[in-house]
Amino acid sequence: MSERGDIAVIGAGAAGLMAAIAAGRAAMEAGSRLRILALDGAKSLGAKILVAGGGRCNVTHYHVDERAYAGSSRNSIRNVLGRFDVQRTVAFFNEIGVEFKQEDTGKLFPTTDRARTVLDALLSEARRVGVELWHPWRVASVWPHNAGFKIQREDSEACNDIRSLIARRVIIAAGGKALPKSGSDGQGYSLAKSLGHTMTARIFPALVPLTTPDGHFLRELSGVSVPAEVIVRDAGGKVLVSFTNSVLFTHFGLSGPAILDASRYLADARHADPGASLVLNFAPGMPVADLDRAIVSAKGPGIARWLAESLVFRADVPGHTNRGLPERLSRALCEHSSVDPATPIQSLTRVQRTSIVGEVCSLVVPITGDRGFTHAEVTAGGVPLSEVRLDSMESRVSPGAHLCGEICDVDGRIGGFNFQWAWSSGYVAGSAAARSLIAGT
Ligand SMILES: Cc1cc2nc3c(=O)[nH]c(=O)nc-3n(C[C@H](O)[C@H](O)[C@H](O)COP(=O)(O)OP(=O)(O)OC[C@H]3O[C@@H](n4cnc5c(N)ncnc54)[C@H](O)[C@@H]3O)c2cc1C
Repeated sequence: MSERGDIAVIGAGAAGLMAAIAAGRAAMEAGSRLRILALDGAKSLGAKILVAGGGRCNVTHYHVDERAYAGSSRNSIRNVLGRFDVQRTVAFFNEIGVEFKQEDTGKLFPTTDRARTVLDALLSEARRVGVELWHPWRVASVWPHNAGFKIQREDSEACNDIRSLIARRVIIAAGGKALPKSGSDGQGYSLAKSLGHTMTARIFPALVPLTTPDGHFLRELSGVSVPAEVIVRDAGGKVLVSFTNSVLFTHFGLSGPAILDASRYLADARHADPGASLVLNFAPGMPVADLDRAIVSAKGPGIARWLAESLVFRADVPGHTNRGLPERLSRALCEHSSVDPATPIQSLTRVQRTSIVGEVCSLVVPITGDRGFTHAEVTAGGVPLSEVRLDSMESRVSPGAHLCGEICDVDGRIGGFNFQWAWSSGYVAGSAAARSLIAGT
């Protein structure tokens, strides 16, 4: 025997919870009774919400627009974001008891600084509007059945004895492949494919730390964080994209927000052209000629000390001053350009000066790869938005099915943009699914 429901949401992460809540609210407002089930393979819900933002959950950003995203066309992304924008998102969370504070970076965090506040509020709102949360209940397959869908559970530990479910509408919110131990391991793609969807040609980690070769001198600086401009260049040296923010040196290579933001663009550029490169500029906003002039006119200390104490660049990166490089970095850059860090600044030869300026402003860092989905915050690629109707996130190839969240070919920058995509697309999918049932279509 199969259990019956009206709307089955597969995946109760950020997008799935929002979709289920939006559906529940739409039904309540219309005075309709809809049975809404949110199914998730995880024993405990909301793993990614809890780890997000270092356990504080960066729920959104005060200014979200489509330029912060990659993947499907920016017009399509804007269309969906506009249907449940930051203002409505903030109002929604305020209503369910989550207040925000805005950081200098524009990121919005709960005032409690606890991701748990966000997850608990979503779960209690889901229950309030009548959503049944089934977990663990991992979906193995879904297929069209009569005028709806049949959903089969995997033969694994489950919260009940029910093995299959028939629902009039299904919402696939099973995420991508980032952080697979959270339960988002790419199974959602198989479910979408079985309903006739295609995937982008490539599905790859985004917002992911990068690796450098063993023995690369920057690995020695593990733990040092600096403000920098991270530039992705094509093989001909053309700047494809750049991000100015913190860079963190680690024992395996590079991390920090500027690196994470650049990672998917580097992967994309290298896929098209293996000669594409990653360049670091430790004097962001400072023209090369200005640095050169500043060194020429400086007097006194050794070059490494001068870089550590007197270099002043223009870009402001929250959490950092724009004066001086970390001492360990300035020494390492000198040594890497074969200049004794103690060389008095006025004794530098022109060749030495040019070499130092090159190291500071455009250090090409060999990248061997990335840390993979296990360490990625999000997935690049997925179901193209051209396969869904943007006003309802309903599938164009399998009417009655909706998709939302990271399963779609949309990935955003660091800063709350990925959750905003989950909230917006989840809201659109959930409210449209409910309304269509209420309207009897
Ligand atoms: C470490 C880390 C930190 C992050 N920090 C931030 C941040 O601060 N701000 C931000 O905007 N974004 C952040 N992100 C990204 C953000 O978490 C994701 O964009 C967002 O969670 C995607 O939501 P989703 O609901 O689409 O997918 P997910 O959150 O991945 O949820 C999918 C759900 O589907 C379930 N599922 C999968 N397959 C099945 C199946 N077959 N049957 C049943 N259930 C299934 C999974 O168990 C999971 O619960 C972070 C990500 C990581 C990994």
